[in-house]
Amino acid sequence: MTSLDGSRYPYEAPVSAELFARGQRVTPGGVNSPVRAFRAVGGTPRFMASGQGPWITDADDRRYVDLVASWGPLILGHAHPAVVEAITAAARRGTSFGAPTEGELDLADEIIARMPPVERVRLVNSGTEAVLSAVRLARGATGRRLVVKFAGCYHGHVDALLASAGSGVATLGLPDTPGVTTGAAADTVVLPYNDVAAVEAVFAERGADIACVISEASPGNMGVVPPLSGFNSELRRITAEHGALLVLDEVMTGFRVSRSGWYGLDPVDADLFTFGKVMGGGLPAAAFGGRADLMSQLAPTGPVYQAGTLSGNPVAVAAGLTTLRLCTDEVYARCDEVAVTLRGAASAALFAAGVPHRVQQAGSMFSVFFVPDERQVRDFDDARSQETFRYTAFFHAMLARGVYLPPSAFEAWFVSAALDDAAVEHVLEALPAAARAAAEATPEDAPRATGQDPSEVST
Ligand code: PLP
Repeated sequence: MTSLDGSRYPYEAPVSAELFARGQRVTPGGVNSPVRAFRAVGGTPRFMASGQGPWITDADDRRYVDLVASWGPLILGHAHPAVVEAITAAARRGTSFGAPTEGELDLADEIIARMPPVERVRLVNSGTEAVLSAVRLARGATGRRLVVKFAGCYHGHVDALLASAGSGVATLGLPDTPGVTTGAAADTVVLPYNDVAAVEAVFAERGADIACVISEASPGNMGVVPPLSGFNSELRRITAEHGALLVLDEVMTGFRVSRSGWYGLDPVDADLFTFGKVMGGGLPAAAFGGRADLMSQLAPTGPVYQAGTLSGNPVAVAAGLTTLRLCTDEVYARCDEVAVTLRGAASAALFAAGVPHRVQQAGSMFSVFFVPDERQVRDFDDARSQETFRYTAFFHAMLARGVYLPPSAFEAWFVSAALDDAAVEHVLEALPAAARAAAEATPEDAPRATGQDPSEVST
């Protein structure tokens, strides 16, 4: 894959390259979250200058249709006028008080109204914080120490949950992150996803010590790998039988794949749910919630401590509340419609170019796996069997044609309701050439910058 001028990646971006070089002098790897560094696909990460609706513009003034949507939050597209207005109005009233504000209650009401099993929520600043708080509560409430998670599920950079995480961890492949103590890792049991027998077996052996099972409600961090029919309800049954809690992580799926997230498509009453992304409307807000009796074990009503200087920040709350209120049935219908068109077209283009692949979906979230045998991807091992070098070629061909895809084969594609017909058409036009690039790719096209196998490395 070479461009006309002979460089390895077509259409390099000189201003972004300069900013990236500058970035590396002031921050590790030049980025503030690893997957942004493009290590899994190589080339220069694009520094973004602005976004409007479905489009983003980089520092070189090149426009792209955005299929990352800030990794999920921007379901309404960039700079939605009502969201910008709400943020501006809130900021004018004061950016933070360290005291309760009415908007926090409105946001909690909105979440509770959409999620029947959730009776109380607590607002936090990131998905990571939501998950670590939920796990602490599960341990505090049960008096047990073990947490069961699934390989390929990412729950933020929570120490105990970084074992076999997907997402960035899948992309860059830090096998076991230095800095996580053996104690923290020893309290985590990692099982293959979608494997009920493995869950039964671990509960048979260690059930009395298990505080909770945590799972992405429908995983999107090893690519999109939905639960097999009944998997989440089996988790519910097994945990209940053993007095353990079930935590379903809806940080990515929540309020995105339906008005009630994955719960709206597969209603399993977990004890605790975690939320983030869409509910923050592009600003840092996240939450966890569940039954009232359980949540009341949090301080100040209960003994499990949890707090935050900026939790329930009024500006973030305004962005999230406005976004959720604008997430109407029409918004979800548009996202579904666009997702059907895009994944159908991606698959058709790859089929026409003779590229073995499999497209998987969870509501409007989807991803393309370049699996040579076109097998159904049911777990992390299946996901890692894909030919990531084909994704590298596909990604760069799309980027060169003005379509911004996730810079890793292990991430979901995120649509927004702002994707109008012109933006969709732009993507459709780019797909055939990208599919041909994927067909022509060879393992040598895998990024060599890191010298690492992208399937083994982490964000
Ligand atoms: N849980 C899931 C399912 C996620 O996808 C993510 C982030 O991608 C997180 C938790 C962590 O959220 P944050 O990046 O806001 O800390």
